[in-house]
Amino acid sequence: MAPLLNYINGRFVPARSGRTREYLNPADNSVLGEAAESEAVDAEEAITVAREAFDEGPWPWTPAAERAAKLFKLADLIEANAEELARRDTLNNGKPLREARFDAADTAGCFRYYAGLATKPHGQTYEVGDPNILSQSVREPLGVCGQIIPWNYPLLMAAWKLAPGLAAGNCCILKPAELTPWSVQRLFELIDEAGFPPGSAQLIYGAGDPAGSVLAASERVDKIAFTGGTVTGRKIMQAATGNLKRVTLELGGKSPLVIFGDVDLEVAVEYAMFGIFAGQGEVCNAGSRLFLERGIADAFLEKLAAACGKIVVGNGLKDDTEMGPLISRAHQKKVLGYIESGKAEGAQLLCGGAGYDDARAQGNFVQPTVFLKAPPDARIVREEIFGPVLTVDVFDSEEDAIRKANDTIYGLAGAVFTKDGARALRFIRKLRAGVTWINTFHLTFNEAPWGGYKQSGFGRELGTPGYDAYTEIKQINTNLSSARLGWFKGI
Ligand code: NAD
Repeated sequence: MAPLLNYINGRFVPARSGRTREYLNPADNSVLGEAAESEAVDAEEAITVAREAFDEGPWPWTPAAERAAKLFKLADLIEANAEELARRDTLNNGKPLREARFDAADTAGCFRYYAGLATKPHGQTYEVGDPNILSQSVREPLGVCGQIIPWNYPLLMAAWKLAPGLAAGNCCILKPAELTPWSVQRLFELIDEAGFPPGSAQLIYGAGDPAGSVLAASERVDKIAFTGGTVTGRKIMQAATGNLKRVTLELGGKSPLVIFGDVDLEVAVEYAMFGIFAGQGEVCNAGSRLFLERGIADAFLEKLAAACGKIVVGNGLKDDTEMGPLISRAHQKKVLGYIESGKAEGAQLLCGGAGYDDARAQGNFVQPTVFLKAPPDARIVREEIFGPVLTVDVFDSEEDAIRKANDTIYGLAGAVFTKDGARALRFIRKLRAGVTWINTFHLTFNEAPWGGYKQSGFGRELGTPGYDAYTEIKQINTNLSSARLGWFKGI
């Protein structure tokens, strides 16, 4: 198969060096193909094109209704090609097809939501002290936006970045994760087909450094939107200080899922499993710390252990698969390393705790793993594992639960399960996290803002805040009077 190419200035082009990088199927580590391996020169070229496309137009000055029409067209094309996009994500990322199908549908929805938002009112007028002054604000596109995304939602993360960026009239350069270029390639073929003007949406594959770091450091880039690990986020923020570019960071998490004793146990067990094992736990908001009210812990854990043993782990393309492989051998090793550190630090295994030694050994599979009684300062409790590993603790009161839930450097998400509505809201108001759920987990909506507290990042994606984050506010003050100012008395 021909290598996947960058998309620069409206054309699919190889990296200048001609270099490529293989991308794999994590279910068996077979090679799926190769993608262009960009160097700094490719990133610089994309920036030059984007700069010109933004400064000279037409995209930033294209009427909102026309920008919306392109985005609606793209959404239709995504929907028409959803099955292919989903299969590419399953093959290249490993996630079960039912999850990849959901992502593809959500991707179309994201472009459609921001297409609609582009034409809605965005400015304001102000009552000011002088009746002869009309004071208004308008929102304008920010400029050239570098967008760097991780491998866990290859298609959907591209949509979260490109849809609001393009809707608001920016010129966007997307840098996907090295491991997952395949669905993004198809997305850019559809972007090409939808007829976006050259330079408005561009794609460069390649390593975080240099392809991504050049975007983060460039004085000609106005904004960096980043989703990925906290360590990388810190580097990006430092690189962005040169020209004080706008930065939004969607980083890691260690989200709590808190279950009070008044719940239906069967229901709560399934949600707890969904919280950590959906997406193999490679989900930024995964419910990786479970807290149970002491009175239900034994009964809950008995049910949880039995249910975890029934999870169907296998190739994501199979209809009955409920959990796929991890993204890479290196990541599998990292997750297994955390499991070993959990054992060494004295935590007790309820289930899982290893890879597989059957046919799945070809791929990067890890058993659904649950640890009990981990010391509060154990690495498996404190650090983001980004895999199917859950720690369980108990609590004795509402105050105890909130203190334990908040005892983390992260603040992306969290959930509480209880039938007591007032307690649920009391708890959620005290939880230091940007995305929360009561009696459910994982839901994201294109309409509602997404992002973290604390070291899970800052800024919001999705919803109207996600659009606003791709705009500058300009204040316009108009004098309605033609009278002299009267400031200089002698003229
Ligand atoms: P990562 O930080 O290693 O990589 C993310 C992206 O950054 C990749 O495209 C990579 O090439 C690029 N990158 C790496 N070094 C760079 C540098 N120096 N300059 C510029 N770009 C660079 O993360 P990952 O391993 O791909 O993804 C996993 C992480 O992403 C997890 O920590 C997870 O929590 C986080 N994540 C967060 C969210 C969210 O919404 N908060 C969503 C998905 C994933």
